[in-house]
Amino acid sequence: MLAWRSVTTIIHWFRRDLRVSDNVALHEAYSRGDRLVPFFFWENDLADGPDSAPARTALAKSALGSLARNLEALGHRLVVRRGDPAVELRKLATETGASAVFANRGYEPGDRARDAAVEAALAPSSVPLHTFKDAVVWEGREILTAAGGVYTIFTPYSKAWKARPIPPPRPKLGKAKQSVPPGIASWALPADVVEPRDATGPEAVAGGERAAHRALEAFVEKRVYEYAGTRDFPALDGGTSRLSPHLRQGTIGIRTILARLQAAGESAANDAARKGCETWLTEWVWREFYHQILSNHPQVATRCYRPEYDALEWAGTDAQFDAWRAGRTGYPIVDAAMRCLDQTGWMHNRLRMIASMFLTKDLLVPWQRGERWFMRRLADGDLAANSGGWQWSAGTGTDAAPYFRIFNPATQGRRFDADGEFIRRWIPELASMKGDAVHAPWEEPLAAGRTGYPRPIVDHAVQRGLCLAMFKAARVGL
Ligand SMILES: Cc1cc2nc3c(=O)[nH]c(=O)nc-3n(C[C@H](O)[C@H](O)[C@H](O)COP(=O)(O)OP(=O)(O)OC[C@H]3O[C@@H](n4cnc5c(N)ncnc54)[C@H](O)[C@@H]3O)c2cc1C
Repeated sequence: MLAWRSVTTIIHWFRRDLRVSDNVALHEAYSRGDRLVPFFFWENDLADGPDSAPARTALAKSALGSLARNLEALGHRLVVRRGDPAVELRKLATETGASAVFANRGYEPGDRARDAAVEAALAPSSVPLHTFKDAVVWEGREILTAAGGVYTIFTPYSKAWKARPIPPPRPKLGKAKQSVPPGIASWALPADVVEPRDATGPEAVAGGERAAHRALEAFVEKRVYEYAGTRDFPALDGGTSRLSPHLRQGTIGIRTILARLQAAGESAANDAARKGCETWLTEWVWREFYHQILSNHPQVATRCYRPEYDALEWAGTDAQFDAWRAGRTGYPIVDAAMRCLDQTGWMHNRLRMIASMFLTKDLLVPWQRGERWFMRRLADGDLAANSGGWQWSAGTGTDAAPYFRIFNPATQGRRFDADGEFIRRWIPELASMKGDAVHAPWEEPLAAGRTGYPRPIVDHAVQRGLCLAMFKAARVGL
């Protein structure tokens, strides 16, 4: 056996990449070193920070438990520490004689600040922090316009993205060549870091790498071929893949997903099936687009992409915001969506569009408040996609002239939940209301009045006018 310090030891720092397969930095650390030290830093606010969401925390814990076991099965031991990542990594590098720390890159302003602090702390010991592209296929400034600029419009970006070959998945981590000796202190994982369980109920999500692969397989086997026709209907079970919470924890690699999608596309039986695959690919490109936007325009995390809209005079009140959060606005599709989010940490994409547009364009509450609330609830809460989605709905984002696109919530309900199945599932007060009235119960005040369901807190037609006037005022002089 080689002496501990005479071998090349590399620490792999797990962050949002809790998996052993198709993991770029982990694969590099394993192949370039003799000894791998898998490391996870338990952020103090993992469970109770200002932005943590109960569903996301639960998922992170089960993903971490699954990671620790997957590593163990290959003879690796996960070292877990708490405190300050810079201090802990410096200590661990000294204890293990590590020559480098490897990690996959994050694209949020906070990720960059943290990595810069860690890099500075490791510099005196000559231990570099190497970061790798893993979470996305193309990052930062890799896809540029002919003029050398960053794309800010989705359609041409998507065209350029799709014209490139997608890199294949990285191999799964191999068996430990040299294990981390038991003398290296590790904080024991809390007891509630659990074995991933099978999800129960249509809105539940199971954590861990195995669950992620199962979710992918279940979707690409058949459902992806129908995706173009199913993706907008929240009452359908399996209309979308439900992979976003796995992407958030990194329990599956993006290259693995896209390779599987490519294979599914090649075996598509007809044009409709091919369209399903193509439409699903476009959704993945949206994810890349918003990462690219956040990476090149980090201010979109908190401010409007279009700076003129930072001057919007939002007139919504705290009471209206509270009614929206509680699912008591009197607009059934919005309330069903918000109650589902609150109770499960999940909201279907169509409903995210409806609920966010209602908060900003009907209640005239700044998108940032809704964005923060989603972050505190969503199992897949992700700054790039969340701020991108919110700004799309608010009309302050990258689209050319979308501020006058204002959904009518009752019409949206009729189109995308035609039988009212989703509404009745989440609003017990309306469960026995018959027919179309479930989309606009105020039209049948006698029936609705008996149920205890609130009357609309605003009049959509009136608010629409106020919203357009608000945008017009901010656009004066443009
Ligand atoms: C207001 C608002 C907030 C959002 N917040 C988040 C968020 O915090 N985290 C998040 O992952 N997504 C967010 N989205 C995007 C989208 O709603 C989710 O990615 C999607 O609902 C995930 O479900 P799925 O995995 O079944 O998706 P599928 O329909 O199976 O799509 C596959 C994948 O494509 C990506 N994707 C799909 N649609 C979008 C989109 N519009 N933008 C970016 N990526 C997309 C996701 O990674 C998704 O897993 C938000 C959208 C809106 C309108």
